[in-house]
Amino acid sequence: MSATYELDRKHVFHSWSAQAEITPMVITAARGSYVWDDEDRRYLDFSSQLVFTNIGHQHPRVVAAIKEQADRLCTIAPAFANEQRAQAAELISEIAPDGFTKVFFTNGGADANEHAVRMARLQTGRFKVLTAYRSYHGGTQTAINLTGDPRRFANDTATAGAVHFFGPFLYRSEFHATTEEEECERALAHLRRTIEAEGPSTIAAILLETIPGTAGIFAPPPGYLAGVRALCDEHGIKLILDEVMAGFGRAGTWLALDRYDVRPDLITFAKGVNSGYVPLGGVIISDEIAATFDHTPYPGGLTYSGHPLACAAAVATIHTMRDEGIVENADRLGREIFGPGLAEIAERHACVGEVRGVGAFWALDLVTDPDSRAMLSPAGVNDVVAACKSAGLLPFSNTNRIHVVPPCTMSDDEAREGLAILDEALKAGDVHAG
Ligand code: PLP
Repeated sequence: MSATYELDRKHVFHSWSAQAEITPMVITAARGSYVWDDEDRRYLDFSSQLVFTNIGHQHPRVVAAIKEQADRLCTIAPAFANEQRAQAAELISEIAPDGFTKVFFTNGGADANEHAVRMARLQTGRFKVLTAYRSYHGGTQTAINLTGDPRRFANDTATAGAVHFFGPFLYRSEFHATTEEEECERALAHLRRTIEAEGPSTIAAILLETIPGTAGIFAPPPGYLAGVRALCDEHGIKLILDEVMAGFGRAGTWLALDRYDVRPDLITFAKGVNSGYVPLGGVIISDEIAATFDHTPYPGGLTYSGHPLACAAAVATIHTMRDEGIVENADRLGREIFGPGLAEIAERHACVGEVRGVGAFWALDLVTDPDSRAMLSPAGVNDVVAACKSAGLLPFSNTNRIHVVPPCTMSDDEAREGLAILDEALKAGDVHAG
């Protein structure tokens, strides 16, 4: 046991955990697609940590920009204008569709969603917010209530106007659909009924992850997001797209919404905007909603809104992603390496029910039997994860799934190395299947 481990176990209270039952790995260094533990073992990072190091670890241009900004001006209160903050806002608004000129900065994704919801409520004068059961929107009170996944249960004491519905997900369809078209049509009909049953005039916003991430990485079928937009327009509801995980290259496009014919009213981001080198999130605001607060003060703010170190990291990250074609690399990795490679892996393993994804954003849905699609047990998933780690691969796992979500900078050789380890590790899942 290293001194760091002992100190951590004595003093650090970890997220989402029974404190006496965890054994956190000690990480001492990271570079590019790799991290090292305190025994100098190297791991290929197929998780991007919590799916945020899109630019890889310790990118020298981002590290240099943070150091330079630290020498110049570590921090300044949000009421002042600051060069890095202004430049970051400009670059982020350029990534958004036309008509999104303003950016409100937060410290991360949950508070970005809190503020987007607050803006939609203030603009519409309505309170309810509709979100998907299969979703994660953050750990603060409103964001966790709006989240659909089971982490919501222990926090459901104040539901804050949250109403949930099922989005489209053909592999585990709630609508008995057998084709994407059917799934899309029925999911939209279900959403329409939910809106009618809740009372359209009480609903401020529909909040959706453009591509649900933690819930299982399922890209919506063609026409779904456009259909949601049409329902919003019909009833004066604002559409908020959560790009916290799917944005900034992860889906092989700058924003995941670039893949669809949809224009939201508000866009939330965090993670990949600066790969989490310094915490940063925010809301990209449509001009129409921004105008609501031209002469009426916005009743919200944060001490560190637009922190210069975080914004300097974002400016350097966005420039570097442009200069080095990192978004294009993620797209290519998805089409040329992960798509075909994971499809081959699926054929070899009884425990792989479905492989799905785009860019550097993939999920393996693990099952005990491909016909019934019964989910692989936690023990089965744990065995796969343990086999990955002992062979030098850090995967991301959730429920019955392994997610392949590496840095968008990953090389083809690294991607193939990771797939080979995963292929071998899945044998530990096969033991639990069939
Ligand atoms: N929204 C989505 C889609 C996320 O995946 C996450 C985190 O994983 C969040 C919001 C919350 O972000 P944060 O943990 O930075 O508050």
